[in-house]
Amino acid sequence: MSLDGAYDDQNIFARIVRGEAPAVKIYEDHAVLAFMDVFPQSRGHCLVVSKTSRARNLLDVEPEVLCKLMTDVQRVARAVVAALNPDGVVITQFNGSPAGQTVFHLHVHIIPRWIDQPLKGHGQGGIADVDALKVLAEQIAAKIS
Ligand code: 5GP
Repeated sequence: MSLDGAYDDQNIFARIVRGEAPAVKIYEDHAVLAFMDVFPQSRGHCLVVSKTSRARNLLDVEPEVLCKLMTDVQRVARAVVAALNPDGVVITQFNGSPAGQTVFHLHVHIIPRWIDQPLKGHGQGGIADVDALKVLAEQIAAKIS
């Protein structure tokens, strides 16, 4: 999908937000949901999405929604660092399939990095063990302030 197009309310993140598809959740409030990426590029890779906006990408989103979303990206990223002690953290976000976007509901990736561990390719990490994701999500959630 290019930058232009209609929001598809059957996309997987919309279904997760509505509780129609499973996800290993880390943090949730009225506006934002953070959950583990099921094809993680590194240990602790997680995603933050808006629960209220029908934005497909950052170019679409209402500024006030973006402000809240990014505030919570910072909150979750700080918790990832506190819980997992990575050497660095990638915060990334793709707009349009030519840019690498595969799910067209605005989301931000939080990807912890360790200097001795190569990053897996985007969407090429293989499916994660759900029980292992639950352990990580609990560790991260415990550090959210
Ligand atoms: P994008 O390519 O759109 O930037 O990122 C989509 C992300 O969603 C990818 O990192 C992919 O691994 C992840 N993903 C795709 N399907 C699912 C799913 O059903 N559940 C979860 N938790 N993550 C998903």
